[in-house]
Amino acid sequence: MRLRKIKIRLKCDNGVCPNYADFAVEREGTPACRELRLCRDCLKELSELNTVLTASETQAGKKQADGGQ
Ligand SMILES: [Zn+2]
Repeated sequence: MRLRKIKIRLKCDNGVCPNYADFAVEREGTPACRELRLCRDCLKELSELNTVLTASETQAGKKQADGGQ
């Protein structure tokens, strides 16, 4: 997947977010009309969620590596 900067005015796809989208998530085989479009704020928040996900997976991996002790 890739991010593409949007130049035309389209609403952000994240729930009731009132902003206009700044980026589209390009995914191979997905028509442009079905692409996920996000504003800068939502994209930033999503990337912060990814940090949480990565941290929890790292924690889980650590526990397994410790053998549950
Ligand atoms: Zn948004």
